Order: sequence, then C-alpha cells, then structure tokens
Amino acid sequence: RFITFEGGEGTGKSTQVARLVDRLRARDLEVLQTREPGGSDGAEEIRNLALNGDAGRWSPMTETLLMFAARSDHLERTIRPALAVGRWVVCDRFADSSRAYQGAGGGVAAAFIEMLDAAVVDATQPDLTLVFDLPVEVGLERAFGRGLFETRFESKGLAFHERLRQGFREIAAAHPERCVIIDADGDPETVAARVWAAVAERLL
Ligand code: C5P
Repeated sequence: RFITFEGGEGTGKSTQVARLVDRLRARDLEVLQTREPGGSDGAEEIRNLALNGDAGRWSPMTETLLMFAARSDHLERTIRPALAVGRWVVCDRFADSSRAYQGAGGGVAAAFIEMLDAAVVDATQPDLTLVFDLPVEVGLERAFGRGLFETRFESKGLAFHERLRQGFREIAAAHPERCVIIDADGDPETVAARVWAAVAERLL
C-alpha cells in the first residue's frame, strides 16, 4: 500500500504523517515513512540543491527536472523495494507536489509533467493521496509562526499560494479514484480522525 500526503504550506501534513504511521504500526503493519523531495541519499542531496540557495536560482522548468530526478532515485532505492516486500509506504509529498508547485504555481505545462510522471513514476502510483486543504491565509499564518518564511519556497507571495491551493483541488477532482481532500482546518486530533477515516474507508 502506497499513501501520499499533499498540500500547501502550513497545512499540518508532516504532523499527520507521523500520526498515521504510528497508528498503522500499532496494528502491527510494517510501515516505511518517507518524504519528498528526498527519501534516499541521492534524493536528499538533490533536495539540498533544489531548496537551499537564493529564491529564483532555479526556473520552474529546472525545478521540475530536479524534483523528478530526486523522485526517480527515491522510487528506485526506497519506495519500490519497500512495496516489493509488502511494506506500507507513507510519503510526505510526491508527484502531485510537482503538478501543483511547478505546474499550477510555476506555469510548467501540465502535459510535460504528465510525460515525466509516466516515465518516472510509471506504475508506482499511490493507492491513496490525502490532499490537505486549508485557506491560504491560515496555512501561511501557521507557517509564518514556524519561521518557515526564511526559506525560499514560502516567499513567493499570496497569488502563488492561491494557485497552489487551486491546483491541489483540481488534481483531487481529476483523480477521485486515489485522492481524498482532507479539511486541514481544526486541531490535530480532529484532522487525524479525518485522515484515519479516509484510510480505513479506502484501504483497510
Ligand atoms: O513538505 P514541506 O512543506 O517541508 O516541503 C519542502 C519544501 O519544498 C516546501 O517549501 C515546498 O514549497 C517545496 N517543494 C516544491 N516543489 C515540490 C515539492 C516541494 O517547491 N515539487
């Protein structure tokens, strides 16, 4: 089983990834927790290259290629080997982040991203994608509280984040067979219950 978490800044994804992993392990399931960009040695190196440095260092096109290069290594070294031995894989961000950030947000052609997805991700599509949805102001407020605006990706302005949110919602609408929108507004307990309901309904 392959589960991905997606969403904009400050939606609380990472907290909820950890909670879901704990809950699955409590059921004696073997779970691999991972993240993107990153999740393998090579992909973590690419993450540093992509995320550190000046805003605007990489164009959206170059970013797309870096993200898919990282994803290719992550799939080969981490995700596919785990799925092959029957582990559950829970991943914080995956290909929908490329569709939303570089596509909807950055203006890279959707057809190009789908071509890369077909070549790199191929048949290793998530069984379930939880799309964390939150009004942009609420998410940015939370992210700002964590000092995340120090990093280049969060400094792109409100319009970018609105395109991002809209992009994620459109991805979810286009792929109802694997995507569930999670209302991320609420305390961690409440959101965790929504996550568990989706996982139980779709996968257990
Ligand atoms: O999951 P987290 O929010 O920590 O993601 C790390 C950063 O990478 C985020 O700031 C996000 O904006 C950025 N990112 C991106 N394009 C992707 C994946 C992540 O810009 N395809």
